[in-house]
Amino acid sequence: MDSLARSLAGTGLPHPLLVDAAREAIAAGDPGSAAGRAEARSRSLLRPVINATGVLLHTNLGRAPLGPAPEPPAIRGVNLELELSTGRRGSRQSHTAALLARAAHCEAALVVNNGAAAVLLVLATLARDRAVVVSRGELVEIGGGFRIPEVMATSGARLVEVGTTNRTRLPDYAAALAEDPALLLKVHQSNYRVVGFTESATVAELVALGPPVVVDIGSGLLDERTPWLPGGPPPWLAGEPAARQTLEAGAALVTFSGDKLLGGPQAGVLAGRAGLVAACARHPLARALRPGGLVLGALQETVLAYLRRDAGAIPFWRMATTEVGELRRRASAVGVGEPVDCSSVAGGGSLPGLEIPSAGVALAGDRTAALRAHDPPVIARVAGDRTVADLRSVDPADDPVLAKALSAAAAASG
Ligand SMILES: *Cc1c(COP(=O)(O)O)cnc(C)c1O
Repeated sequence: MDSLARSLAGTGLPHPLLVDAAREAIAAGDPGSAAGRAEARSRSLLRPVINATGVLLHTNLGRAPLGPAPEPPAIRGVNLELELSTGRRGSRQSHTAALLARAAHCEAALVVNNGAAAVLLVLATLARDRAVVVSRGELVEIGGGFRIPEVMATSGARLVEVGTTNRTRLPDYAAALAEDPALLLKVHQSNYRVVGFTESATVAELVALGPPVVVDIGSGLLDERTPWLPGGPPPWLAGEPAARQTLEAGAALVTFSGDKLLGGPQAGVLAGRAGLVAACARHPLARALRPGGLVLGALQETVLAYLRRDAGAIPFWRMATTEVGELRRRASAVGVGEPVDCSSVAGGGSLPGLEIPSAGVALAGDRTAALRAHDPPVIARVAGDRTVADLRSVDPADDPVLAKALSAAAAASG
């Protein structure tokens, strides 16, 4: 078995994993399958892929792509919890969270592992054993099993539903004040829309009722004026909720995803009034939900880019704002398949139903399996009887790699 394992060394897997592959192949009575098993194991590891789906924030592909990895760092620590000016113990929340508060024009912010964690921490801290009022139209499930009623139950808060699926008015919330709610919670419907005969109360209206208003924005914008985009907000962004304006309307706190809303690493942010943020930071769950230095460092770079008004430094915004003419030019230059117009979507629960005009390359038939088998894997989508590689979600530097993968897939039988 050891010699069989050694013969698989070309896959680059560590020896114990090669032994596993050899053992499984022998147990299956098919020693010849060892190489294939080792190869499959190697391919199952986390690795970079080319996102040609046109879904800019694809949850299965890690949502926001981050910029190129920095040079391999020298062996150094970071001042994660050290105040360099005094030499005393500092807070890991003092760097990035302070920048986020600056960018959202609010008093304070706190960074946790993801958006779900931000909502959980706010509810557990501010509403344990108390009522939280939510519209029946906003009791949503977001992909991956994030269900508002279940998060609420886990936090120890008591859900008080008001209104109906399509219409919830201010008097519905006002009637629930009899329950002495700790919070009024508004939740961005994110990945679905109720259209037609609908009505909802605004944040400013809810604020006038008295209890703190918390808004789970999830995805959306940091600032609806998008000052980081030279041309202002593109038309497909209209109507997305924004952290800054929601807080200006009087919300006590907003919660959102660092990847969906900022185009940064996976993280969750809660931002707003300093006293409430500090209470959340002191809760024991905050320790369990805190991010590490890698995430905080990547998020810091993202927020600095927003503050510099440099959308070009944020891959999501580069992808989202590329002119369709430029994408058509790239599609022709790929030189394989047929250049086609198509539509991208923001993804990650943002902007359901809204499409961003795009261009890509089409191959006849379903070639997605061959594209996934390429190194690096290319993820494309099937549209009718064709496979379309949407160039909006592909880095231009990857176009030559994409061209190779498309030629290989076009030549593969199937
Ligand atoms: C996506 C989303 C969440 C969950 O955020 P994650 O970062 O995926 O945990 C919560 N609320 C809303 C409204 C969302 O869109």
